[in-house]
Formats: sequence, C-alpha cells, structure tokens
Amino acid sequence: MKSVVIETPGNLIIQERPLPQPTANEVRVKVSYASICGSDVHIWHGHNPFAKYPRVIGHEFFGIIDAVGEGVDVSRIGERVAVDPVVSCGHCYPCSVGRPNVCSELQVIGVHRDGGFSEYACAPATNAYRIPDSIPDKLASLVEPFTIAANITAFLQPTAKDIALVYGAGPMGLTAVQVLKGVYNVQQVIVADRLPERLAMAKENGADMILDNSQTLLSDLLNGIQPTLIIDAACHPSILAEAASLASPAARIGLLGFSGEPSLITQQSLTSKELSLFTSRLNSHRFPIVIEWMVKGFIKPGKLVTHYVPLENIEKAMSLFEKDQRNCCKVILSVN
Ligand SMILES: [Zn+2]
Ligand SMILES: [Zn+2]
Repeated sequence: MKSVVIETPGNLIIQERPLPQPTANEVRVKVSYASICGSDVHIWHGHNPFAKYPRVIGHEFFGIIDAVGEGVDVSRIGERVAVDPVVSCGHCYPCSVGRPNVCSELQVIGVHRDGGFSEYACAPATNAYRIPDSIPDKLASLVEPFTIAANITAFLQPTAKDIALVYGAGPMGLTAVQVLKGVYNVQQVIVADRLPERLAMAKENGADMILDNSQTLLSDLLNGIQPTLIIDAACHPSILAEAASLASPAARIGLLGFSGEPSLITQQSLTSKELSLFTSRLNSHRFPIVIEWMVKGFIKPGKLVTHYVPLENIEKAMSLFEKDQRNCCKVILSVN
C-alpha cells in the first residue's frame, strides 16, 4: 500500500509499505478520503513536540472497514466509518472523568501512531464511528475538525443571547462559526481576521459581522460591542490579553492555541470582570454528536472544502494548504 510518510522533519515521501494487519480489538480501514489539517503541516516541518519519526500523518479520515482483529464483530466489515484519532487508556484520572483527550497515555492517530494519509490504516474498533448514508463519502472526513468546535462549545455553553467573537477565519474558526449559528442559534457571531478572502468565507459560513483587524485595532472596530463569548481560533499568544479587555463582564473565553510563548495578562483583567477561561484540546467522545449535527443539517461541512487532490499530489496539497490561505480552506485528499 501507498502511505505518506514524514521520514524526518522536512522530509515527506510516498512510501510503499506492507498492508497492516489489525490486532485484537482493531479494525483496518480502506481509506477513501482524508483531510489536511494544520497539525499535519507542523509534523512535516518538525514543529509538533509530540511527533515521533518516521510517521504516517493524517488524523482526519474516512473509509470502509475491510478487515477486523480478534474480538471485533466480523459484521463490521464493509461499514463506512470516520475515525476518532484520540486513543486513550480508559483508566487514568482524565479517562475516568470522561476526558480521554487528555489521557495520561494519550496516543493521537497520525501523531503518536500511524495515521490516515495511507491507502489503509488500523485503529481501535471503538474509534471507528459508523457514518449514516446521508453523509456523502466526500465530506465524511470533516467530522473530526467539527469535533474541535463541539468540544470547546461544550465548555462554553453558548446561548441564543450571546454575542460571540471568533478570532480567526481558518478551518477552526469557521467550524466554530457554523456550530455557534447552526447548533446553538447564537444571535450575533462576529469574526475577526486579517485576510479579506477568509472573512468572506466566514460570512459564507454564517458570520453576522466580519471585521478586518489587519490595519485597525479590534477595540475600535467593535465600537463598544462587548462580546459575551470569545473563541480564540487564531491561536496567537497575544490574543488572550486583548480578548479579556474586549469581553463583557461575566463572559467566557475559549482557547484552542498550543503556543509555547507566554501570554502576558494580569489577574485583574480577568478577575475584575469575573471572566471564565476554558481550554480545549482535540475532542472527548464528540464524534456521535457531530455526526448527528451533520445528518440534521445543523452544520454544512461542504462549505469548508476548497480543494480535492489525489493522494499522490500530497506535497503540492500540503504546500497549497499552508501557503495559499486566501484561497484555501479544507483540502481533501482522495485516497482509494
Ligand atoms: Zn485536525
Ligand atoms: Zn487514560
């Protein structure tokens, strides 16, 4: 089988590998489509502290179960599935409180173990979620990116009364906009970004107001509006302090960034307004709810897709995704 392998940081190849055999409680997925994410690019460039090399990347993928290991019902062969990349131990403290995404032995498929940019990939059977027929193959790899938005909003508990501000109109910001509008019916969703093309995508994905903060301070653009809910999907360490100063008293702020740089912020800026700060990493068992949202039409994954590229053109696809942010949102690889 063909697999996309990052051999060492900076060195991406397509390698012919032996077909993997599912071990006990695993399924093997014949991958149909896989989508590119920022973290794939980070592993390629050696910027992901958790990645071990060589590594088959890809954690957003969909396909058909074509083999099962011991202990898995053979009737699952032929099932259409999207794979949750979060593999957890099931018995540590975070696992015991329903937070497998921060398991003390966390293994992320495509990061810590081989992933889905490959003709075949193995995963624990419980990580393979059946996709209803109403979700087309071409969009089913997008369940995973929406689970990021599902996870942060589960903490933030948006209501219709909220005025939400989303930093960043990249894939993470756009999925958040769709979930805030389509699932939670938030009355006003404002999106800030520095690229007009990205802001146009935000509008297309349901934003009520778009603000270009490339030249002007966001505080001036907001003109007195105090957001009650803020999501940082741009993930720059400087954003937290600005978000705290813009927020309404009693607002909630959700952080998705993973920077190692400090965010400079005073206790007073948080405590004086009694702001709540939530962080969110990957997802904890959010595949079923996102699949339900897709089936009900609350979210529209097709609005995120700008390109389909064959697996063989992976390097071109990754560069396009990384460098052409004005024209590119989700890039999906067609694999089998
Ligand atoms: Zn991702
Ligand atoms: Zn655990």
